[in-house]
Amino acid sequence: MVSTLFVLAMGVFVPAAKAQTASNQPAVTKKPATTKPKKVEFVTIQKGTLPVILSAPHGGELDLPGSLPRDRKSGGSRFQTVRDVRSSELAEAIANQLEAEFGQRPYLVILRVSRKYLDANREADYAYESPEAQVVYDEYHGAIEQFKKAILEKHGSGLLIDVHGQSKEKGAVYRGTRNGLTISALNRRTGKDAASLYSKVMEEAGLRMIPPSTATPNQEVEYNGGEIVVAHGSQNPGGIDCIQMEFGADLRSVAALPQTAKDFVKGLSPFLKEHYGVSDQRQAAAGGTSPAGR
Ligand SMILES: [Zn+2]
Repeated sequence: MVSTLFVLAMGVFVPAAKAQTASNQPAVTKKPATTKPKKVEFVTIQKGTLPVILSAPHGGELDLPGSLPRDRKSGGSRFQTVRDVRSSELAEAIANQLEAEFGQRPYLVILRVSRKYLDANREADYAYESPEAQVVYDEYHGAIEQFKKAILEKHGSGLLIDVHGQSKEKGAVYRGTRNGLTISALNRRTGKDAASLYSKVMEEAGLRMIPPSTATPNQEVEYNGGEIVVAHGSQNPGGIDCIQMEFGADLRSVAALPQTAKDFVKGLSPFLKEHYGVSDQRQAAAGGTSPAGR
């Protein structure tokens, strides 16, 4: 009897509350007739001016109308549909932080479609099932191709950071360069194990790197680089240096994410200045009158 009374009471109360909301805010439920339906953005593609591309293939949540979900059969043992939570947001926060640091923005390529339908970090044969998904896959990689070309023409060298998330080492970041392969150009330019130099600047900025800078070369065992860094890396003609970064879950919490972006850019800044000729455009615009020390 008690539960029946409760339901009856709720039944009276809830419609009244709803009616009140609806009469107060009619615009919320119906858009004005003049507003055209916004085209759904499956890939965020933004040009930049820094010789840096930020790629984030695994943070998407959108369904892809008409597309079949990916199939475990074709995906093989590496089949994954798990979202890298807040990796898109992290890529965007890093872009904003780079702008704060240099007065310029990186190029951005972010997939908004769920990994259920396509995985931009797999070879085409394993990445999707249907033509609808292929279009989006080609758009993603086509944007990176175009941006690589623009960067190489303008700067001569460049760096792609492929932003991911993992939950195995929640407070750490896995570096993936296929043991230096995807940063072949940088290895040649520096004459050193550039992957270790990269881990070093990240550690100095407060990030725990796997493998650490003190590891002997060729110690990338897990999360050592997927299709994006392999396809676009500087071991290929027309490629640029590519590094996969797998940020731990704790570094991507809502509370921690802004600091993670700051720490990452704090590490990346000296690396970009030393190896990619990046300088602060705001100082240059001021005629170099700013104090040299930063
Ligand atoms: Zn991922």
